[in-house]
This record gives sequence, C-alpha cells and structure tokens, in this order.
Amino acid sequence: MDVPNTIEFISVSKFYGEQLAVNNINLKIPNNTYCCLLGPSGCGKTTSLRMLAGHEAISNGSIRLGGQEINALPPAKRGTAMMFQDYALFPHLNCLDNVAFSLKMRGIKKSIRHAKARELLDLVQMSDYGLRKPDQLSGGQQQRVALARALITDPKVLLLDEPLSALDPFLRIKMRSELKKIQRDLGISFIHVTHSQDEAMALADTIVVMRNGEIEQVSNPTDLFNYPKTEFVARFMGGQNIIRRGNDIFAIRKDRIKLNHANFVKKDNFTVSGIINSVEFQGNHVHISVSIPNDNEEFSIILSDSIYYDDAKKVGDKITAAWKFQDQYQLILS
Ligand code: ADP
Ligand code: MG
Repeated sequence: MDVPNTIEFISVSKFYGEQLAVNNINLKIPNNTYCCLLGPSGCGKTTSLRMLAGHEAISNGSIRLGGQEINALPPAKRGTAMMFQDYALFPHLNCLDNVAFSLKMRGIKKSIRHAKARELLDLVQMSDYGLRKPDQLSGGQQQRVALARALITDPKVLLLDEPLSALDPFLRIKMRSELKKIQRDLGISFIHVTHSQDEAMALADTIVVMRNGEIEQVSNPTDLFNYPKTEFVARFMGGQNIIRRGNDIFAIRKDRIKLNHANFVKKDNFTVSGIINSVEFQGNHVHISVSIPNDNEEFSIILSDSIYYDDAKKVGDKITAAWKFQDQYQLILS
C-alpha cells in the first residue's frame, strides 16, 4: 500500500530536443517531507520540479502522487502547487485578491474565497496587508503573498524553485526558518530547489543531490555532510579534505584534524606535512590552509579559536596535520 501523498519518480527522463536534461531518475519522497533538490546550475533541478508540477512534459517514465500516475494530468489537477522565483503576482490586484485568485477561477464565491485568503495571509503573517497592491510591498512581503497564493488550493505538495535567492542574506535566513515552520504546520511535503548547500542543510529532511541530470545521492543533511558517498558530493558539500593515496580517495572532515609541530611522530594517526599558507579568523573558529608538497590540492584545517590560540601557528610555519584512522573514510571516485 502506498502512503497517501508519497511522490515517486520512476525512471523519469527529459529530453529537450537532442539534449538529455534529466536522465532516468528514480526517487521516492514520503508525505510531510521537506525535500531539497540540490546541485550546481544546469544539473536538472528545475526541469525535475516542472515535470512534477506539469509545466514540462516528461519524455519517459512515470510520476506518481499517492500511488496514482499524474504525469498526463494538467497542472491544476495534480494536487501540486508551485511558488515561482519571481513571485508572479498580479500588479493590479491587491494581496487578498492575488491570494484568492485560483479560487475565483474555480468559481468560488467572493465571501468564501476571501475568508480562505485571509486565513492564508494570516499563516504567512501578512493579514494587515490584504488591501495593498504588490508594488506597495517589500520583496520579502511579496514572497509571503506568493506563498499564500500557492497554498490556497490546499495542495498535497508545494513546489518551490530557488524561492529565497532574490532576498538579502538576513531575510533569506529568516524566511527559510518560516518556510520550514509552515511546512511542519501544514504537514505536506515541500520540494525546494536550491543550489545552496547551507540552505539545503538548514531546511531539508531529505536532500537529493543532482549532477548532470542524474541523482548522485539521497540522504538526510547530517549523513550527507558526514558521509558523502562520492568525490563529487564531498567536494560540492564542502567541509571535507579529499586525499588521494594511490588509486584510493579518502575524505576527512576539516574540523577533525589536529595541528602539530613538523616533527610530530605518528602513532595510530594519519598525517600530512606541509607549510601554512593562510590563516583566517572566522569568529568562533580559525580556518588554516596548508600547502602539501607534490599535491595540487589545498589541505584545510578548522580549529576552534581557543585551540588555535593555545599555540598559534603562522603563515610560513612547517606543520604536520594528524587525524584518527576512524575519522577518515573512502569515497567513490566521481
Ligand atoms: P537547474 O535548474 O539545475 O539549473 P535545469 O533543469 O534548468 O537545471 O536545466 C537542465 C538542463 O536542461 C540544462 O542543460 C539546460 O540548459 C537545459 N534546459 C533547460 N530548459 C530548457 C529548455 N526549455 N530548452 C532546452 N534546454 C533546456
Ligand atoms: Mg533552476
């Protein structure tokens, strides 16, 4: 039995003419999940979202919601709703009528659609702004209205394409915690496209890392950060040093490393030796980068400020970095 509102991509591909934008993806997202599609520009995130919304036809495969195939249904019949990056509010309508718009299209009478629109403006903390036009609102406020408008049809899934990218950094962090809260309150899944690792880690229950139209890894944020499966994911998520030993490739977290004097003797530790080429103070931690002879790759060490200042090493110092065997693990080359 399928759990209600489970989203499934089954062997889904998308060609734009000759170009393969999404290559045979398989994905299952249970109800009430905050899911982020994460990956570099052009990897197929938006295309995947638009195929789920019905704004883009699939070339192959099947998309299901709650066990029912939806890929042949028009967007309004799928139970999905999409919030657009540019908000796409109607400039001539006030907030209340913008939010109520799709209910009006469905022929629902004014008193009922306005009551529902007020409820949603309340949910996004915009109840005092119902009579304003979009150009009388800040970017963040317009976004809240767009969110309310997307939610008025009681969708089973809300789809958001880079919803925070137009906001300034302060507002972005504020809005992302509100998005998460609204998702929890509604108990539906949000599928949120982003190219920001930080955003995905802060928001998601499940992160789907995409690369070249394929899914590279699906994981919760902690496991994704700590145990990236492939070299690509380790590099994309950051936070790890990548070390090659012959044909093997390993990851070791930058904050799992001790800094020692150059003559440090290894016991059950792994070590590399090199010369410090930068030290950056970053508030509660210090980021040190080390050049290793015969290695093109920079090696990074993150120390808490108190540990660093106990024995502050400087640019040009020769050092040995050491870490425990159990903190290092093997990656799949990619
Ligand atoms: P992302 O959202 O991850 O940046 P997209 O899904 O927008 O990536 O694009 C995936 C690939 O498909 C890219 O190579 C892009 O150039 C291509 N693409 C996207 N939309 C179209 C289109 N309408 N026509 C042709 N190619 C497209
Ligand atoms: Mg995109």
